[in-house]
Amino acid sequence: MMRNFNYLIGDPETKECAYVDPAWEVDRLLKIAKADGYQVKKILLTHNHFDHIGGVGEVVQATGAEVLIHPEDEAPVRKKASKIVPIRNGTEFKIGRLKVEVVHTPGHTPGSSCYLVDDFTLVTGDTLFQGNCGRCDLPGSDPKKLYQSLQQLKSLDPTTKVYPGHDYGVVPVTTIGYEREHNPTLRAEFFKQFDAIP
Ligand SMILES: [Zn+2]
Repeated sequence: MMRNFNYLIGDPETKECAYVDPAWEVDRLLKIAKADGYQVKKILLTHNHFDHIGGVGEVVQATGAEVLIHPEDEAPVRKKASKIVPIRNGTEFKIGRLKVEVVHTPGHTPGSSCYLVDDFTLVTGDTLFQGNCGRCDLPGSDPKKLYQSLQQLKSLDPTTKVYPGHDYGVVPVTTIGYEREHNPTLRAEFFKQFDAIP
């Protein structure tokens, strides 16, 4: 079961929006954006797995949006995008009036990145799920780096809302504070403890 989440992040005043990880049902999301009067200006990619980038070509064709991805994950996206904007840890940009900051969180893939919107909303891709974290036994993944990335996310404000890439938890949206208390992959106090989680 994939159970991917797709997100549109928009500024209701300027009507600019960004499409996060387009994969399935691109048509449906583009229709929602259009019906609400939004223009898709950017495609934000959390990493390069097929279930997060499968719809990039379609969104680019329909909207001309630029594609943001970390250079270490960029290769599979090159053919699908006309304009790629490389992101790094700390990269800042805007969606209308919304301020977005990139948090590079390698581990699931080398270029995995989270997007922190207006300081208190975090889009986590496959790095952090409700109750769990992303797989780190895949080609290109690195358990030690994922552990460090999760420790970095743990230090964000506890009220920060977490919007993961898949519906794997008991609730679709969570917070850093809740996960810090209940998610074993964030509770682990050192790498060996993290690595021993089945
Ligand atoms: Zn993935």
